[in-house]
Amino acid sequence: MAEVKFVNVVKEFEDEKKGKVVAVNNANFTIRDREFLVFVGPSGCGKTTSLRMVAGLERQTSGDIYIGNRLVNKVHPKDRDIAMVFQDYALYPHMTIRENLGFGLRNLKTPKKVIEEKIKEAAAILSIENLLDRKPRELSGGQKQRIAVGRAIVRNPSVFLFDEPLSNLDAKLRVQMRVELSELHKRLGATVIYVTHDQVEAMTLGERIVVMNEGEIQQIAVPEELYEQPNNMFVAGFIGSPPMNFVKARLDGNQLYTAGYTFTVPGHLLPKYSRYDGKEVVFGIRPEDIVTVHLLNSEPERNVISPTLKVVEHLGAELLLYFNIGDEQVTSRVSADAKVKGLTPVKLYFNLDKMQLFDPETQERIN
Ligand code: ATP
Repeated sequence: MAEVKFVNVVKEFEDEKKGKVVAVNNANFTIRDREFLVFVGPSGCGKTTSLRMVAGLERQTSGDIYIGNRLVNKVHPKDRDIAMVFQDYALYPHMTIRENLGFGLRNLKTPKKVIEEKIKEAAAILSIENLLDRKPRELSGGQKQRIAVGRAIVRNPSVFLFDEPLSNLDAKLRVQMRVELSELHKRLGATVIYVTHDQVEAMTLGERIVVMNEGEIQQIAVPEELYEQPNNMFVAGFIGSPPMNFVKARLDGNQLYTAGYTFTVPGHLLPKYSRYDGKEVVFGIRPEDIVTVHLLNSEPERNVISPTLKVVEHLGAELLLYFNIGDEQVTSRVSADAKVKGLTPVKLYFNLDKMQLFDPETQERIN
């Protein structure tokens, strides 16, 4: 069993300029045995600190961390049965790849023959057999990344920790490595904790995702749930690209009044919004839920507006249409078949079955 548990974990730093910084505020959650869990959030949200506390590279200010039922607060990093892969790969430049791969095991005084076998195994898994006698400077970024992963594999840890491992690779290689890491996880059957600021990487790799902001966990959920049922405006705006549109509105019966347009809320959604009848709300709708009427079989009776477009971006298979509701910018994402001509007004249908409402004060989703 290699579940990892955070119990009331707090980490504070003393910053010379800012004073006390709460990097992680009272985190409570469990990463399940063999789970691929991703921490995601903007720079400075506390995700790397969380990972480093699991690794033992950072000691929490208070609270407990367990790895596989063992309280590890006072356990040295090398005795935690973990292996960490860093963003900058952290390979030793003067050693060959073979020596780099075996380094951790030599430190643990593993017999030479066993080390050789493990290197062979890892090299086969990662298809790096032909690189073993080279030095790191003779490798490309993608190859170095593989070696860094290989060095973790040879140690056969219960928990793999990845700190933004793909951020130094170009976009194409990142996609390829993402697929490889997913496959590797299935093959190794180990618990993986993975840190990234990239929400696409989080959504594609994570079995569950922890979204953090300013030291606080905003939501822990499977990717679909984060997307369909975000806890609050932060999660709704962070997950998804382009992000969810937010428009100030007032709910009155089944009418949603925004600056300029009135929308009709589908009847089946009204019970959950009844507390907010007559009140200010934030209307959230994702870009793909605003489509040109042209793409539908027939024109819907409601929730069609004809705004003047400000910008049209061509992304190949898709178009992004930008327009305003009041002074708030709204984005629609439609298939390139929409045949939008220039910036002339275009009829857009808002699919309110997919709408979300948020409380403007707390920013929580209303449900
Ligand atoms: P990034 O993606 O930029 O690495 P992050 O989400 O991983 O960001 P952390 O590195 O965990 O964020 O940092 C969380 C907060 O703690 C930030 O405000 C950061 O400035 C602060 N912090 C981190 N390490 C230290 C340190 N050694 N001394 C002082 N403050 C620190």
